[in-house]
Amino acid sequence: MKVTVIGTGYVGLPTGVGLAELGNDVICLDVDENKINMLKAGKLTIFEEGLEELFEKNTKNGKVTFSTSFAESIPQADIILIAVGTPPNPITKEADMKYIKAAAEELAHHLSGYTVVAVKSTVPVNTGTMVETIIRRTNPNADFDVISLPEFLREGFAVQDFFNPDRIIVGANTERARNVVAELYKPFENKCTILYVARQSSETIKYASNAFLAMKIQYINEMADFCETSGADIYEVAKGMGLDSRIGAKFLVPGPGYGGFCFPKDTNAMAYMGKFNGVDLSLIETTIKGNDRRKINMAKRILDMVEDVKNPTIGVLGSAFKGGTDDCRESPALQIIEILLAHDAKIKLYDPKAMDNTKAILKDMVTYCNSAYEAIGGTDVLAVLTDWDEFRTLDLAKIKQLMARPQIADYRNIFDCKKAKELGFEIKSLGRKL
Ligand code: NAD
Repeated sequence: MKVTVIGTGYVGLPTGVGLAELGNDVICLDVDENKINMLKAGKLTIFEEGLEELFEKNTKNGKVTFSTSFAESIPQADIILIAVGTPPNPITKEADMKYIKAAAEELAHHLSGYTVVAVKSTVPVNTGTMVETIIRRTNPNADFDVISLPEFLREGFAVQDFFNPDRIIVGANTERARNVVAELYKPFENKCTILYVARQSSETIKYASNAFLAMKIQYINEMADFCETSGADIYEVAKGMGLDSRIGAKFLVPGPGYGGFCFPKDTNAMAYMGKFNGVDLSLIETTIKGNDRRKINMAKRILDMVEDVKNPTIGVLGSAFKGGTDDCRESPALQIIEILLAHDAKIKLYDPKAMDNTKAILKDMVTYCNSAYEAIGGTDVLAVLTDWDEFRTLDLAKIKQLMARPQIADYRNIFDCKKAKELGFEIKSLGRKL
């Protein structure tokens, strides 16, 4: 099939490359010329495990191409996937629809023949109706259907998730559109459930899922706090809980708070929709507040360890919002760092993949290091803020030699606390009474 993906970011790029790998002819379209020029020159613009080799293969054989031109990319498409950003409105926190509206209006001019316009971006309920209205108004003769096709991939696992989805949700109100989607997703027919629902249901499923996952994270973080006061071990508690099939074992790992481009903005957008529709979504509102508080609390625990030091030097491992990605958007690590900086700490930072994105945000406010050990050298406390696998293999004895004071705030629970204590560290981890 001929597919055009509008928006070539963390969702659009792996999706475009994945669909090309399945044999479709894909154009990835973006308004960001720098991005498209880099991709045309064979350079990936994001880090995702496994993406590079698929990208190389499918650009070389011409199955995926890149463009900034709607006129070149839209007319031939059987299906158009809109995967532009839907960032939060800075004041109301509702999802900002300006990129969706712009994409809908621009594509409408160039539609030719029957086309399915699929909204992959995470959008408020009834956005499909809005997109339909924009296209109809701009091009009254266009032959099209607008469907909702929400994306559930996890950053860091985008390629794996593309080829092995838990489910595919399709919000399509016409049989003609459903048939096009069925053909596109034929390779997944026997792999996962493809659930056809009303468009509004599909739009709601995405927000309801993300808000639920965010609540699950906040819940296990609260349980971790409780374990620290009670002598219970959060990992034993989580394991015991997770064996209940109604609860499930995933997303029961304590950490410094949820972050990233999705959970913070999607919980806020859902809470806004609740207010707007006059519905009490207090569980979600409480989750948002708890997660905000958690990052302040995490920073405070670090500051408590160095309260006797003027301008303490803090070694930070990790700035991406989680391991496996270079994405720093709404990263708990960066929010904690900003609080530490506001309390006159000096920060030495290392992240395996997110240094460029971090520099764009923190500029010269921190010292950037080339390795974990370099970031640890001479520090008063070491804070582990992102769960990169390479941090798990660090040598505690070497860390002790390098640090000015042997203190660790391990917010990803990567170190063996017993061993650290034997070596003379003061260590704070999550969910265990030490
Ligand atoms: P992103 O910021 O990485 O990429 C969006 C891209 O859209 C950018 O490259 C931007 O230049 C481009 N764009 C903006 N306006 C455009 C226009 N009018 N025409 C063409 N291109 C345009 O965003 P993302 O992380 O890929 O997220 C995209 C959507 O998918 C969001 O709604 C997000 O909530 C949702 N989503 C994201 C994830 C994730 O893990 N990142 C997962 C599921 C769903």
